[in-house]
Order: sequence, then structure tokens, then C-alpha cells
Amino acid sequence: MSVYIFIATGQRTNCWHIIAACLATPQHRIGGIPSPDAPVGEVGMMPPAPTPGRLGNRPAKQLQRESATRQGKPAVAYFHSINKGSQSMASSNLCELIRIANNASYFTDEHCDNMTAEEFDVLICGSGSAGLCAAIWLARYGIRFKMLEARDGPLRIGQADGVQCRTVEIFESLGIADALLKESYHVMEIAFWSACSKEGEVGGEQGVIQRDYVGPDTEPGLSHQPHVILNQARVNEIMMDEVVRLSGNQNNVEYGRRVRDVTVVKEAEEDVQVSLKLPYVKVAAEDRHGKSHVYRAQYVLACDGAHSTVRKSLGFHMQGDSSDTNWGVMDVFVNTDFPDIRKKAIIKSQHGSIILIPREGDQLVRFYVELPPSATQPLDLEHLTQRVSQVFQPYQMQIVDTAWWSTYSIGQRLADHFHDSMRVFLTGDACHTHSPKAGQGMNVSLQDGYNIGWKLGQVLTGRAPESLLETYILERKDTATKLIEFDRGFAKLVSSSSSSTSHEDQVATNGDQKTTTTPAERFREQFLAAGRYTAGLATRYPASCITRSRAPGSVGFVCDEAKGITIGMRFPCAAVLRLSDGKPMQLSQALPSDGRWHVVVFSRRDIWSHGLHVIAAKLATAFQGYEPAGSDEDSFINTVLVLSKMPAAHSAPLNLPALFCPLQGKLKLKSHTKVFVDAENRHAAGWGHAFDLYGIAATSSIIVIVRPDLYVAEVCDLNDSARVVDFFGGCLLPATK
Ligand SMILES: Cc1cc2nc3c(=O)[nH]c(=O)nc-3n(C[C@H](O)[C@H](O)[C@H](O)COP(=O)(O)OP(=O)(O)OC[C@H]3O[C@@H](n4cnc5c(N)ncnc54)[C@H](O)[C@@H]3O)c2cc1C
Repeated sequence: MSVYIFIATGQRTNCWHIIAACLATPQHRIGGIPSPDAPVGEVGMMPPAPTPGRLGNRPAKQLQRESATRQGKPAVAYFHSINKGSQSMASSNLCELIRIANNASYFTDEHCDNMTAEEFDVLICGSGSAGLCAAIWLARYGIRFKMLEARDGPLRIGQADGVQCRTVEIFESLGIADALLKESYHVMEIAFWSACSKEGEVGGEQGVIQRDYVGPDTEPGLSHQPHVILNQARVNEIMMDEVVRLSGNQNNVEYGRRVRDVTVVKEAEEDVQVSLKLPYVKVAAEDRHGKSHVYRAQYVLACDGAHSTVRKSLGFHMQGDSSDTNWGVMDVFVNTDFPDIRKKAIIKSQHGSIILIPREGDQLVRFYVELPPSATQPLDLEHLTQRVSQVFQPYQMQIVDTAWWSTYSIGQRLADHFHDSMRVFLTGDACHTHSPKAGQGMNVSLQDGYNIGWKLGQVLTGRAPESLLETYILERKDTATKLIEFDRGFAKLVSSSSSSTSHEDQVATNGDQKTTTTPAERFREQFLAAGRYTAGLATRYPASCITRSRAPGSVGFVCDEAKGITIGMRFPCAAVLRLSDGKPMQLSQALPSDGRWHVVVFSRRDIWSHGLHVIAAKLATAFQGYEPAGSDEDSFINTVLVLSKMPAAHSAPLNLPALFCPLQGKLKLKSHTKVFVDAENRHAAGWGHAFDLYGIAATSSIIVIVRPDLYVAEVCDLNDSARVVDFFGGCLLPATK
């Protein structure tokens, strides 16, 4: 008896190796079509002219488990003809194959077509910003997951475009920022325009617009990354490419699968054998031909947007404003004499407000057009075009071509629940909706995925208890609540009907001096004050097991030891030199989002200091328990040392603590890339201020624990290594050797 598995040409060779190793027993012979790079001799008993099929890339452990259940039971299976474009039927369902093989003597196309129940660790419903970002983490952790997407293919055009500094930082840490930075428009300046209040002002007569201000778009020094503009379809594509790359070129998305129903299964289902533990989640979906498919997963992410079927199916509701505001959005090519056409600009005229966003390339621009609140029906393209030319008076704004346009209505709303039984988690627009004015939609949604993804990865790889997932709700519900509050204020600020368009000047008392502020000035001040928030750099996570606080219940703790670092906020970036080769770098480059925790030691002590060696040795001993046997010594906790100054010059053998030069790779070579110095860069300005930027007191040396998503978890004195050990003991599980 044999199990035949046909591997499609181009299938990853190591996948073939794993399957062959797991299933090759006297009872199971392995047959296949070799991929061009498959080594000769791996392929056994070739059956006559089979159609190549596909198998997914499954973690070796999983396959071993499955093959163990198969031990000694003969089976005949024909697993073929399943490579149907992107709809590779049962592509990763070896378990199901073996189950069916037990009952069938011959396994045909028909079996394939009826085999619709599939099992995963995580199912992601919707492949938008939130779903894709979570998928990157899951692929990185080697989790068995699938994305179900209602569309027939990837998003092609339109939707959001603003990528805030924080999101660019995230892309950098995920190693996918190059294309984003290269292809996007970089928002360096912002201009504010308002209606002329008096005759004779620049711009002409009353009723037309004048420029009030041009300045930097983001506060200088806020982030080393810019605020950029790139259409959401391309941003999604960059993430999808990374998911595919990390999954070994495997397609993890099923297009044309519309999720219809989601249930948390709490008691064993009759006649259903699953390898999932209770409770798990059952998802019913429909393909483009109306055929039903059933999936089961340990966890489900509802990433299916504002009209989320998952949310509705669980009986959850959106709460908040009952009225929606209408917006027109258009990507257009224009002929114009408007001077700020290549700057981000906010124009508040007597005919309404427009937000102008220059787009990638040198020609395309986007207009967000405020539509009258009274409009019962969204307006059409002709009305939008007319409104644009009115708002820009006295400038010529001739729309020559419209690449994309849409009108949409949106309310400021929050879901009443963010999870069901800690098994289904709502993310993105599925649990928060708001206006597009502050450019937050894609960013906050993507960052929901960024938050839940690594936590699921750590739980499913057995490195953290399930309770870690509770922090997703704590952190992202808090973020969403603040987003809605922020958006309410911000939307009013930008709206033409806000008081700041009132032509009345206001008199403010500033000490003994009376100053007059114009509406335009007040608007600009408030807008710029919101800059830190809109850049995505104001997020502070509340205290939890992964965000320590010395004051219970507090949010964002600033430590005396490092006033520039706030527990619960993103780890700020600083320019440093790498000790080994003098390379000028951003410290963030040493802290990639690759699934590891990071421990950064800022030391005023020299590397020759005995004290530093003693502390490093203590930490190294404590961290050993988290590193799986045979892996790199820093495969779970990435350790980095930043020295306050160049070490004393010595010709003596390099004396770095072993913690900062772990053995890596197959050859177990000492790493030389983990020690940095806060020293001046001979080739450029801006280096040599890292300790000042982090606010590290003149006599202090500190340890900072940074989470896999680069938020600060804990800060303590260098001598307090026990606190570090205690921290990890409180939220992680040791490696099973
Ligand atoms: C038409 C439109 C225009 C927008 N314009 C702007 C804008 O100009 N500026 C701005 O800042 N924001 C805009 N937004 C909002 C912004 O795009 C969202 O905030 C952001 O995309 C949210 O990301 P998400 O991953 O939560 O959801 P989405 O990006 O909406 O992704 C959800 C995905 O789930 C899929 N899906 C839906 N239902 C199902 C189902 N039942 N089964 C399987 N898959 C399903 C969808 O096809 C989609 O791919 C717009 C949104 C829309 C819909």
C-alpha cells in the first residue's frame, strides 16, 4: 500500500524533504513529480502520468504528529489534480488527506472537490491592512494559517493612502520599507489655506482662498522616518509579497471566499475529528460559485473591514455616532496654477474644505472633498469636480483625468466587543471606524494586525501563555477608543463649519500681554499640536504583564533612569556607530521585528569593566532557558549593547561579554554586530547624542526590555538584572528542549 503525493514543479524542495521523511515507512511509499531542484534519489515509485498536485509547507512538528497518527495503517491515496490556480484545493491539508485515505481505496478529483473542511491554527478573514500585517508575523513564526478574501484578487486601486511615520518604522523593522520609501510621495511640508476675510488680502477679494502658513509636516526629530503617501493597494501588495516570501512562495490567501458565518465551538462536534483543542472556531465561507466551505481554526482574526461579517455573525455591534459624514475622494491629474499643488494642503474655503494630498509620481493628486451634511445621496463625479473648482478659487484647477474616485460615508464608531472567548479577535475597521481626515484608517488597522500577530505567534509556538492574547484587547481597544475621541475633535477642526473658520479674531491673554489670534492661526496651532498623534507616535499601552509599571494601573511610565524612554510607548530611535566596523546606523536597525524580544543595555561602563561582565553573565544564564537547544544563542532574546563612549584602545584580545557576541549560524560564529557606541560620526552630523536623547542620567547605566513589536516593556538600572529575569518569568515560557 502506498501514499502517493505529487509535488508540483517548483514546490519548495525542503517541503518535499519533510514530507518524504515523515511518511516514508514500509507501508508508505512516496511518489512524485520532482521539482527541478529536487535531489535525485528522493523521488520514489513514480506512478503513471499523474497530474501534479500541491501540498503546503507545514511545520515539521505538525507533519511528524500527523504521520505518527498514521503509523502502521496502510492506505492508498491519490492526491492529484488539485492545482487550480490560486485555489489550490486542500493545499495544506495533509491531515485531511490521511483521514480520507483511511476510508478510501482510491482518491480522485471528486474526492478533492467534496473535501471542503480544512483546519488551521489561525484563519484570517479579509486580506486588507490588518489581515496582511498579522499574516507577516504568522508566516515569520511558521504558523499554519490561511487568509479568506471575498475579493477575486488583491486590491488594485484606491482607498487609503497616508502612511504615517510609525507605520514606516514598522515596515523598516519588518525589512520591507525599501519599496515603500522608494515609490511613495514624501510629505515634507504642509500648507494651510483659508477663506480671505478682508478685501485686499493676498489672493484677491473676499470669498477666495489665501495661504496662511507653510511649514514642516511633522515635528523635526519626531522620527527618523518620513510621513509618506502610497496607495493602499501597493502597500498591501508589499505586505503580501513578504507573506509569500516568508511562507516559502506558498499562497496563503484564498480569493473569492466570502465568510458567511463564524461560531466558537465549545463542545466536541459529532462525527468531526480535529486536532484543535476546545474551544475552537468554525468558519463557513462561500466561493464565487456559491459553494460552501467549512474551515476550523484555533483562532480567527476578523479583518474583514467596516461591514465585517464576522462581527455581525458573533452578534457584536458598532456603537457611537448614528449619523455618517459624507466624503468624496478622487485621485486626479490636474492642470493648475495653485502654488502648493505638490504640498500636502488643507484648504478651508467658504465652499467647503478640501484636503489635498500629492501622490506618488510627480503628477497625481488626491482631493478629499467635504460633502454637505444634508446630502442624502453621495454626490457624483460631476458634483465633486464642480466643488473642487469652487474651493480653489481664484486658482485654476482643471481636472484633466480622474484615475479613481469614490464617495463614502463614515461614522465614528467602536465595536461593543473586541473578541469572542479569546478565540476570535476583531481588528481594523471591523472594530473601529472614523473619518479619513487624519489619515489614520490604514495605519491603525495595520497596527492592530501588528499587535495581535506576534502574540499569536508566541502563543502558538508555545513560548507564551494564552493570557498574552488578553493584552491585545487591553492595548488596541484603548488605542481605538482614543482614536475615536481624537477623530471627533480633528474632524471638527478640519470641517469648514468649525468655529475656526469664523472670521472673528479672538483675543487671548498671555501673562500681561494681549495677543490676537486669527481663526487660521488657531487652526494651524491645533493641527500641528496633533502632529505627534497623527504620526502614530503618541500610542501608550497600559500596564500589563508585557508592559511593566511600577504604579499599578498607570499608562506610560517615564523612568527616572531614562526620561526619554516611556514604558508602553514605542522604543525611540537614535543614531549610533557600530563598534566593530564604525558603520553609522539607526539603533532600530539592530532591533528587527523578527519575532524576538530585545534587551538593550546602555552602559557607561567600558567593555573592560568587570562589573559589566558580571551582570552580562547573570543575564546570559537567565536567558539560556529561553533559547531552544541547538539554535543561535540569541534566537529568542536579541541582546544589544550601547556604550556611552568608545572603549579604551587596546591590542588585547577583544573582551566583549559573551552575551553581546553570541554564537550564530551553522558554523557557530561569534557575532560582531551587536555592540554600538554613542559617538560622533566623522562623515555626517547628528550622531553622538543617543544617551542624551534617551535622557539617561549622567551617572546611570540602564537595561531596556523591548517587545517584539518594539514597544518598551521595562526599564531598569543596570545593577537590577533581577528585575529583567523577573519580567521574562512573568510573561514567557521557557524553551522546551
Ligand atoms: C471604499 C473605501 C475608501 C476608503 N478611502 C479611504 C481614504 O481615502 N483614506 C483613508 O484614510 N481611509 C480610507 N478608507 C478606509 C481605509 O481603507 C481602512 O480604514 C483600512 O483599509 C482598514 O483596514 P482593514 O484591514 O481593517 O480593512 P480593509 O482594508 O477594508 O480590508 C478588509 C478586507 O476584507 C475583505 N472582506 C470583507 N468582507 C469579507 C468577508 N465576508 N469574507 C472575506 N473577506 C471579506 C475585503 O474585501 C477587504 O479586502 C477607505 C475605505 C473604503 C472601503
